[in-house]
Amino acid sequence: MIISIASGKGGTGKTLVATSLALSVKGRGKVQLLDCDVEEPNDHVFLKPAITRSEAVTIPVPKVDEEKCTYCGECAEVCAYNAIAVFPKHILIFPELCHGCGACSYLCPEEAISEEGKEIGVMESGYSDGIDFVQGKLSIGEAMAPPIIRRVKEQASHEETVIIDVSPGTSCPVVEAVKGSDFCLLVTEPTPFGLNDLVLAVETVRRLDIPCGIVLNRAGVGDRKVEEYCLKENIPILLTIPLDTEIAGLYSRGITLVEGMPQWKENFLGLFDKIGEIVNERGSGTKR
Ligand code: SF4
Ligand code: SF4
Repeated sequence: MIISIASGKGGTGKTLVATSLALSVKGRGKVQLLDCDVEEPNDHVFLKPAITRSEAVTIPVPKVDEEKCTYCGECAEVCAYNAIAVFPKHILIFPELCHGCGACSYLCPEEAISEEGKEIGVMESGYSDGIDFVQGKLSIGEAMAPPIIRRVKEQASHEETVIIDVSPGTSCPVVEAVKGSDFCLLVTEPTPFGLNDLVLAVETVRRLDIPCGIVLNRAGVGDRKVEEYCLKENIPILLTIPLDTEIAGLYSRGITLVEGMPQWKENFLGLFDKIGEIVNERGSGTKR
């Protein structure tokens, strides 16, 4: 089963949920945590994995042989990302805008474009106390998160429970990380901002046809509008975590919730069981 952990907005407690769920479930069988929040991966801060493998992630960017180039401009025309500018006697490539789609080299009539790998980040893997751990890291200044997320997801095991920590928001990296999941847990907080971004996140996972449920974090901080929305939209609230200075204190010291307060392990196992029930129900034909 692949469970992705997402949130419409940052700072809602996604990392807290991903790490504590992984630590709770590991007693039930093999578990793998993929940190796909590649712009700011921080599960490692809590799980402190021993990294045993590190690989550069590259994308192919064009390199022009100006001996062959006739400055016809076709490559600039086909590039949807304005990564090429052609002048009467010169051509400029902007690698930071290139998405590595290969269209320019494919369409160049003079075969003047070759491709060279440009490093945009790394994929690292290792182990942490019974958890298989993989994370992606986007290099500073790079904007292309999806290729790194794809590389991290390629490491997903078919024999383990896979938990994917997704970046906040609803943009391309989120879609890339969430797609293919059996279930998406949306972590939110009961505030107007939390609700606004939750609505967008629910729309995204519904478009991907992935069942979802809610973890309501910092319960007690705001109003009841998130609960009313979930009731109206028939989205289950699967776990409620109260606003609690002890929990916040653990988080600020890089300690997972289930390690700092082991009584929470039962709650996370209950959450896992509820997700399993929803996924099984759906698998047997009951669409939510
Ligand atoms: S399509 Fe090829 S020949 Fe035309 S401007 Fe681009 S690199 Fe040069
Ligand atoms: S590989 Fe794609 S994105 Fe990059 S410059 Fe060529 S057409 Fe543009």
